[in-house]
Amino acid sequence: MSKFAVKNVECNICGRSNEITILAMATTNGTADLDFRPPEVRRSAMPLWVHKCDYCRNVFSTSDPMPEYEEKYIDSKEYVNCAGIAGLPELGKRFVKLALIYQHCKDYKKAGDAFLCAAWACDDEKLDVTAIICRKRALACYNEVDVSQISKRELPELKLRIVDVLRRAGMFEEAASFAGHLKFRTEQYIRIQQFQIARAKAGDKKCYRMEDL
Ligand SMILES: [Zn+2]
Repeated sequence: MSKFAVKNVECNICGRSNEITILAMATTNGTADLDFRPPEVRRSAMPLWVHKCDYCRNVFSTSDPMPEYEEKYIDSKEYVNCAGIAGLPELGKRFVKLALIYQHCKDYKKAGDAFLCAAWACDDEKLDVTAIICRKRALACYNEVDVSQISKRELPELKLRIVDVLRRAGMFEEAASFAGHLKFRTEQYIRIQQFQIARAKAGDKKCYRMEDL
């Protein structure tokens, strides 16, 4: 069962009120992907995670407060043409713009996550080449993350997410080597790690879920 809610949110740039829909409650069907992409029903609610302002060029997250940035950034060439990434679907464009804002504000974890959302939007449209470009952009952001700023709870998932992004971007040697150096105490994480190393060594860039382990 899913429950949607409508609320009014002020655009953090132009200040005008936007009516947005959020998924207030959802039951879960199945398991997350190995990069922690959520299962249904949240999975197909992804278009509700990011909103393009009805009145200006700004996009904003519907769940997290936006960082501070100057209004002129959303007029920059980089932002307007989605960093030159060609072939993005509409939803992918919104996530790339969100990622660029976070990157501009040096919030590299959120930037990486938003680029990964753009990759998921491409996956859903079978735009494999564009999905890989978005994954590589996510990796570039994750590389900049100051791990001392990441909570102990989030860090193992970030590391495992990076392994999956590397493998699904076809960077098999890097994925196997990065995964091989990780140390986990939780059994589930160790199982993901071992599965990823085996899939990377087999040159497999397919999407897997936790239930496939
Ligand atoms: Zn606006």
